[in-house]
Order: sequence, then structure tokens, then C-alpha cells
Amino acid sequence: MTPRHSTSPPLASSTVPRIALLSEAVASQVAAGEVVERPASVVKELVENSIDAGARKIEVMIRRGGISSIRVTDDGSGMDRDDALLCLERHATSKIRTGHDLAAIHTLGFRGEALPSIASVSRFRLATREPGAVAGTEVVVNAGKIESVKDCGDAPGTQIEARSLFYNLPARRKFLRTENTEASHVEHQIHLQAIGHPEIGFVLVNDERVIHQLPPVAQLRDRIRDLCGPALTAELLEVPEIGSDNIRIRGFLGKAGVSRSSRAQQLIFLNGRAVENSTLSFALREGYHTALMKGQHPVTFLFIEMDPAAVDVNVHPAKREVRFRNSAEIREAVVEATRRALESDRGSWTRVFHAAPGAFPGAESSVFPSGNRPLGAKNASELESGQRSPEQGSLQISQNEFQRSQELEKARQELVQRPETDDQARQGSVQTDQPGSQPAQGAFHTLQSNFHPLVPSQMSLEPAPFLPPTASGAPAGSPGFRILGVLGRLYVLMENASGLVLVDQHAAHERILYEEMLKRMEQQGVPTQRLLLPLTLEVSPRDADWLNRHLDILTRAGIGLEPFGAGTFKIDALPTFLRAGEPTQLIRDIIDDLRETSAQTSKLRLGEEMIVKNVCRHAVKANDVLREPELERLIQDLLACDLPYCCPHGRPTMIQLSYGELEKKFGRKV
Ligand code: ADP
Ligand code: MG
Repeated sequence: MTPRHSTSPPLASSTVPRIALLSEAVASQVAAGEVVERPASVVKELVENSIDAGARKIEVMIRRGGISSIRVTDDGSGMDRDDALLCLERHATSKIRTGHDLAAIHTLGFRGEALPSIASVSRFRLATREPGAVAGTEVVVNAGKIESVKDCGDAPGTQIEARSLFYNLPARRKFLRTENTEASHVEHQIHLQAIGHPEIGFVLVNDERVIHQLPPVAQLRDRIRDLCGPALTAELLEVPEIGSDNIRIRGFLGKAGVSRSSRAQQLIFLNGRAVENSTLSFALREGYHTALMKGQHPVTFLFIEMDPAAVDVNVHPAKREVRFRNSAEIREAVVEATRRALESDRGSWTRVFHAAPGAFPGAESSVFPSGNRPLGAKNASELESGQRSPEQGSLQISQNEFQRSQELEKARQELVQRPETDDQARQGSVQTDQPGSQPAQGAFHTLQSNFHPLVPSQMSLEPAPFLPPTASGAPAGSPGFRILGVLGRLYVLMENASGLVLVDQHAAHERILYEEMLKRMEQQGVPTQRLLLPLTLEVSPRDADWLNRHLDILTRAGIGLEPFGAGTFKIDALPTFLRAGEPTQLIRDIIDDLRETSAQTSKLRLGEEMIVKNVCRHAVKANDVLREPELERLIQDLLACDLPYCCPHGRPTMIQLSYGELEKKFGRKV
């Protein structure tokens, strides 16, 4: 081959050949660079081998975060002496035979690279014994060179130890983080494998400390509870099993509003293998949609089973990533599974909220001494005699303090009626933001400051359960709530059968408007107002291309946009509910915000996102004072929403403080 660079010395002038085959040891180190990044990758490969070997129990012991030593012991099939030596060769595997097998991988491993790679960058010891064999085999390898092979008397199964990781590669060793960081990566690996295989018992010991001791269990839910604790388990919804011929999905998902700032708890298993895949992440995001706060990630334990031939796992040396043959199909299945799981939560509210408020579980029993009931709990006789009907309520704020807020009604009317003239349309567009004033410093002040930090991330606070709406949108029968008052001009205090409910009236209104707009948009498009003077918008060629491709969805969302020569567009209509002072800037913002999303999500989503982004401007401001009937209606409307428990941005709309929690707080119950 001729040298490509003219600056290279001419071949003939050198007596040393320019190309040489790498020695086996160096080749393994090169391969190890891809497979063995850190102690956690060693743990991953070894545990996967144990799982492939049919182990029922896997014990992982690390020292100093795995940097000093990693030992994985299993009770799997073990190996005879020939295999124990062969498994240390590169590309030696028992899991595939031909190229054809690559097309449908049924095991976690298949590349035949892990053991030689690990052995080439550590002080390595393998002891293995087949069940029933008279003796086992022990092989000791240092930096890829076999030092000794002899009989050993270990229990059936395999034990592999890798000490002093990267001791012969100081440059790699420098990349390792602190012991604690490396240990937490190892722990995450065990987490993944343990969730992926509840039927296997796992033990993790770090520096003599038992981190996990997980017995084998039959149910995934039990494994999640053992590993993540009952609090998180209570926040999960089971995915209703859905399945086409090609794809089956099961597992658990966090309820609406349950989220994390990293993807660490977003676990997805594909045919038993923990995978990372952007199609799947986006599908989850799309399924959660408004039930997830921006920048947050869902908590999932999702298991996808599909024909191994429909997915390529041979994309990444560490087999983390996968590629789908038909990514649209898998995306839709995940979106659907997520939606159904979230919707299933509605059913559970129904049961809790059929009871009348005040008829809390402890009412008849002696949980509360009479005359010493918790906030809002009326005594039984008062309730029975109907002295206080839900309609009368017990609003604590004097009527004089109310100023009627027109905003809610106006926004609603804009949706219902298409304004005939521009004048009317402009009237419909709503007044300016008021800077949020301090909440009233009333009797509730201290209460409020106590409650405030609980919103929105406290895991123990569940979305409040309510009655489901009837077809007409109103809750069936008597309302399952009673309004007690308004705290800080923002939080509506209510009583329901389970205890105290706090509703963020601003968030609630956002949710209501959002769903109304969405329905309207689906049915008849968004009401638009024509601009008297069309505006021109100049954009870069890339943005112009983007706009051209999405003209239809923008039109559906009420934005009238027309190509007007190269890189120029004419804006001649806008949705009436938009209060955009600067429409061209608005369009630019929409382009910026949504360009990323468009590649991965459906077109309808695009329109929804836009509505969500703008709906806030019309929602009741935190300090708007609502009269009782308005509050009542707000709550009714909220309960009639498809996803009442969070606003379109994924923040909670209501928080339930159950009697149980109140009892705990007041020290009545431990
Ligand atoms: P792969 O897992 O891709 O086949 P590895 O290098 O991880 O490649 O392992 C090579 C072979 O060694 C495996 O195919 C398997 O036959 C054998 N092996 C590795 N670990 C174990 C184990 N814990 N128990 C039994 N056999 C094992
Ligand atoms: Mg392997």
C-alpha cells in the first residue's frame, strides 16, 4: 500500500517494516480498552457470564471500589479443564457458533472477549468446577500470561477474581475515579442485574460490608421492594400487559409526577438485558408526556420481550446499546404501555374517593379522641345531620376580600367561541402578568411554610385520589371533596375521605385549560385570529427547511405561516389564546424548542408541546382570588381531566396528606 501522506518517509528508506501484527497481549489490551472501562464493567461481564451459566446465586465481593479486587462467585454450570483454558483465548465462546447465530442472540454474552480482556489488565484467577466432577481447575493469569494451571477443590460453579485492575496500564488506571465513585458504579451494575433477574439470589459485599443480600424471589415486585425499599415500590404502577405478536411489555413505572433528575432509575430490559437506547427513552418521555417535569426522567422497571432477530445487540463492545429493525413499532408499543399504566391509576382513585369526606378510617374508632379531630374532620353527627353541606363549604375568607377574576372565564370563552373580529380577539387576549405577590400572612402562614417544601418532590406524598368523572364531566354522585379554604391565595385546602388535600390552583387551571385546548385542537383545530398586517419572518436555510416540513402541524396549532421566497415566511394568523407580544420571536422560540423533539416524536406531540408552552400565560395566577363557586368548579373541572394529578409541565396539581401521615406528624402513631 502506498503511504497516503507525502510527509511520511518513503518506504524504501526504512529497513523496519511499517506494519506489524500486534502481539496477542497487546491486542487483548486494545480490546480490553473497549470492554473494561472500570471495575463496574468487570462486574458486569462476570455477572453476565454467571447468569448465562445458569447460576441461582451470585456473590460479588469488591475491595476499594473494585480497584483493588473484584471477586464473583456463582453456582452455575462450571467448566472442565479444557474450557477453563479455552475461555481465556480471544473470541472463544460457547454461546454462538456461526455468523447466522449472531442474528438472534439468546444469551447475555456472545463476543468471547470479556475474560481474555479482563485477564490482560489484571491479576486474574479462575477457579471452576462442574457439578459432579472429581476436582475443579484453577488458572492463574497475570497481565494476560498464564502463570499456573492446577486442580482445586472449590465448590461446583465458578469463581473469578480480578485484582489490581490496570496495574500494568498506568495510563488507564489514572482514569479511575475515587473508590466511592467506582463502588457506586458497581452497585448500579448489581442493581441492574438483580432487577433483570429476580429469580437469582445476589450478594454484594464492599470492603467486608454487605451492601445487598437479595434472596431469589418469584415476583419482580418483591425484588424491587428488597432493592429499592417500600416507599418507592408504593409509587409504582404495574404496566398492564400488552403485547402484539412481536413485542411484549411488562414491568412497573413510576406514577405521574414521580421522577428523578438522572436516568439512574430508568431501567429498561430487552430480552433480559439492561439496555440504553434513545428510541426507548424518547418513547417513555412521550408516554409520560405532561406527567413528567421538564429535565426530569421517569422511574421505570420495564421489560420488553421481542424476537431476538428483530434487534441487533452487537452494536457496542459492552453490549449496552441496541439497534431495532423496526423502531417505530417498538416506540409505539412503549408509548402505549406507558399511557395505559398511567391511566390505570385513575381506577385506584375511584375506590378511595367513593367515601364521603370526613368518613375517614379512624372516624368510628378511637384514633382521635372526640373534640380533638384533625384539621377539617367534622364529627360524625355534624356530618350526618347535614349541618354543613359541601355546597356551603367552610370558606374562611370574607367575601369582601374577593375580587372576581375574569381570567378563567375569558380564557375559557376564547376556546369556545371563535372571535369574529380582530377587536374581539384582542379583547380576548388576556392582561399582563402581575409579579407574584407574597401570600397573605394569615392564620395559615406557618402551615404554609411547613407544607411548601414538600412540593413537588416528596415521594411519600401521593397524588390525591378523587372520583372519576361521569360522561358529562361531573363527578358521579356527591362530590368526594369539601373545600375548607385557600392558603396564601394559591393553595386550595380540601378535605376528602383520606384526609387533607392541597390543590395548587394555578397548576390546576393549567391542566384544565391544557386539556380543553387539546380536545378542541383535535376536533376542529385551534381558533385563530387573522393578523391585520401579516408579518414576515426571515430564517436560516436550516430553519426554513424545518418550517416547511412542519407547516401542516403549525397550521393545525393555529399558526398561519406561508413560504414567501427563499428563507422568508409570512405569518398571517395566530391562535387566539396566544398572548404573544412579538409573534416572530414566538415562532423562533417554537422552532428552537421543538427542533430536537421533532426528530423523535410524533407530529401531534409537536402541537401539544406548543400549546403547553403557551397555556401558562392564561392560567389563573397564583394570587388571583377565586370565589367559592369558582373554586368548586375549578376542582370539578380538574377532576374531570384525563390526567388531573399534574399540570402540563409535570408538576403536581394536588397533594394528599392522609390521616395516617397527619397522625404520624402529631405523634399519635409511630
Ligand atoms: P462470552 O460470554 O461472550 O461467551 P466470555 O469471555 O465472557 O465470552 O466467556 C467465554 C466463555 O467462558 C463463555 O462462553 C462460557 O462458556 C465460559 N464462561 C465464562 N464465565 C463462566 C462462568 N461463570 N460459568 C461457566 N462458564 C463460563
Ligand atoms: Mg461473557
